[in-house]
Amino acid sequence: RQAAFRTDLSVLLDQVGTGKESLSFMKRRIRRLAQQWATAANRLDAKLEQQWRDQKKVLVHVGFLTEESGDVFSPKVLKGGPLGEMVQWADILTALHVLGHNLKISMSVKELQGFLGVPPGRGSCPLTGPLPFDLIYTDYHGLQQMKQHMGLSLKKHKCHIRVIDTFGTEPAYNHEEYATLHGYRTNWGYWNLNARQYMTMFPHTPDNSFMGFVSEELNETEKRSIQQNKVNNMAVVYGKEASMWKLQGKESFLQILHRYMEVHGTVYYETQRPPEVPAFVKNHGLLPQHELQQLLRKAKLFIGFGFPYEGPAPLEAIANGCIFLQPKFNPPHSSLNHEFFRGKPTSREVFSQHPYAEQYIGRPHVMTVDYNNSVEFDSAIKEIMRTKVEPYLPYEYTCEGMLERVHAYIQHQDFCAPEPPFIPANLSRKGSAGGSRMMGPLFVPLPNTTALGWASNVTAPPAWPPLSSLRLLVSQEGQSCVEACQSAGFICEPAHFRFINNKEALRGLDVQCEVVDSEINHILPAFSVVRQECGLQREPLLFSCAGHSPKYRRLCPCRDFRHGQVALCRDCL
Ligand code: UDP
Repeated sequence: RQAAFRTDLSVLLDQVGTGKESLSFMKRRIRRLAQQWATAANRLDAKLEQQWRDQKKVLVHVGFLTEESGDVFSPKVLKGGPLGEMVQWADILTALHVLGHNLKISMSVKELQGFLGVPPGRGSCPLTGPLPFDLIYTDYHGLQQMKQHMGLSLKKHKCHIRVIDTFGTEPAYNHEEYATLHGYRTNWGYWNLNARQYMTMFPHTPDNSFMGFVSEELNETEKRSIQQNKVNNMAVVYGKEASMWKLQGKESFLQILHRYMEVHGTVYYETQRPPEVPAFVKNHGLLPQHELQQLLRKAKLFIGFGFPYEGPAPLEAIANGCIFLQPKFNPPHSSLNHEFFRGKPTSREVFSQHPYAEQYIGRPHVMTVDYNNSVEFDSAIKEIMRTKVEPYLPYEYTCEGMLERVHAYIQHQDFCAPEPPFIPANLSRKGSAGGSRMMGPLFVPLPNTTALGWASNVTAPPAWPPLSSLRLLVSQEGQSCVEACQSAGFICEPAHFRFINNKEALRGLDVQCEVVDSEINHILPAFSVVRQECGLQREPLLFSCAGHSPKYRRLCPCRDFRHGQVALCRDCL
């Protein structure tokens, strides 16, 4: 069946249910953004020009909201607990509904069992029949619950699962045996999924898919009135929990800030002002989302203290015409040196509180400075007060952008189909824009399938992203493919690894190999210059953009991307 766009959200609102503060929060959000979603649906509908869209049977099982996982969130919603997740789930549900899919929502293990058709009760009763869904969106909690209640059959059906995973899961942590043998075991990883089945909050880990969320959009009239009503000396602090204000050295930069600006906060409190919040701060308490937006419309500066990491609020502030000021992290924070990231299935290094804001938005909307340097901090505040900025929201965080991306994933990402072995035809070197001096990017022409050695009786799904987007690069020693692609103006595309994991690619790059081995190691394909050893990847689950190793230069499959929609290449729609 063909999916038809929906602009009426009343059925969705009924489906979400009632009775918990977390559900009310999500419903308020869905209602508040309804008009914006409807407009976006109409625009995308026109843009796709009658393109066929399959209607999928989709189950959304929000694991962290189930009582079985402790449902730690509902009581915290009113106290400023991680609202970011709630924002994202509300937007995912809305996007799936608006795109016209056949949606079922589960927020308890009982509902999950009902939808899957497995007998209720504990113990692992395997699902015997076919899976009644094309796609299941869940989180790590939900995955655990499915394992408990679907038993062995989970393995058979896991290609249908998508895991919403804020901070991402790198391939080395996802591969059970490899993680166990090489010290990448954590509380979360080792599900042996295709790493693209993990979907993140920001496009920070290209091994995963970028899901995202949306922020409020303003029309031209609103933008103009915001700019007219900005209060140049008004700052709002990012941090809704008192604990976020417990920062070493905070007093000195807060004092500097206070010298120039009126400082506002939205810190949750019960009866008394939290002692962490200085007396000169005008604390509004935790605000409902729409009231926070109003506050941000007046404020000139939204200032981060280093925590929380990578939340939605800075995007909302920038969308409402604030400048976001945040601390640089030197050394960078990661699971190796910071409690918050410890045990998370990633080695990613975070160089500031909100790397997306720094890398994808930047000046004049975002300033990232060393807070320990009071001169630098002081001059940043002064610059912010004199700089005029327009409200700005990257396309990928608009409703249309999110619908476009989720549509593309649903129609094109298929982790159930077998991937045929691949021997590419002649790789030709054209141009050398960016990249290392020795080896510029290789532009690989789209070959036809018969020339590639695929058996003619294999009906392979067309590659997505299409092969036309592939740019082959070689990293520097010690550099990951994430960085190598980025520094050449591209993005690493894990789906393309299978096209470059071969001798032809090495030959095309003029790499001198004494030996070519095929091994199980997440930095492969790569080669050692000194030893003239080349290595190809033997385990497709370990293709990793993130991998790097001091003595190795990596073969990197990069691709182009759309301006403001990094998840999609030019020919991806
Ligand atoms: N928020 C809110 N009231 C407040 C402060 C924040 O409704 O007083 C909302 C805000 O609009 C944002 C969400 O909380 O969408 C998540 O905020 P944050 O960036 O702090 O992310 P988290 O740490 O919760 O993931």
